[in-house]
Amino acid sequence: MSIDGQYDPENIFAKILRGEMPCVKVYEDEQVLAFMDIFPQAPGHVLVVPREPARNLLELTDGALQGAMLRVKRIAQAVKKALNPDGIVMTQFSGAPAGQTVFHVHFHIIPRKEGEALGAHGGGQADMAELQVQAEKIAAAIEMP
Ligand code: 5GP
Repeated sequence: MSIDGQYDPENIFAKILRGEMPCVKVYEDEQVLAFMDIFPQAPGHVLVVPREPARNLLELTDGALQGAMLRVKRIAQAVKKALNPDGIVMTQFSGAPAGQTVFHVHFHIIPRKEGEALGAHGGGQADMAELQVQAEKIAAAIEMP
C-alpha cells in the first residue's frame, strides 16, 4: 500500500485500540496506547500508537501529532531509565515502500546496545513472559506531565 489510500478500520492496531485483540500494554491515556512489539528488533521494542485513525504521520492532525511526540519522548525516557540502553532508535514508516506493514500510524522506540546488531524488521516472535517483564519495568519508569 502506497502513502496514499483509504484508512482500514480492520487493521491490527485498530483492533488492539478497540480491545478486540490483546497486547502487552506499557502505557495508555486519551491520546495514545503504547505496547510491546511482538516481533521486536531488540529487547524492549515499544510501539506508541495514536488513537486517532490515520494511516501515517502525514495524515495525523497537528494536535494528535504533538500529543504523540510528547508521549514518544516520555516513553523513550522511561525505556532509558528502565533498560539502560546505549542508544535508542525512534522510527515511523509512512507507506509500504518506506517499510510500513501496519497501516495505522505508530512510532517505534527501539533500545540499542553497543555492539549488538539490530534484529530484522518484523522478525521472530518474542516470548510473552519476557515482554510482560519489560513492559512492567518501562511502565514503572514513565513520568507524564
Ligand atoms: P511497521 O512496519 O508498520 O512500521 O511496524 C509494524 C510493527 O508492528 C512491526 O514492528 C511488527 O513487528 C509489529 N506487529 C505486527 N503485528 C503485531 C501484533 O499483532 N501485535 C504487536 N504488539 N505488534 C505487531
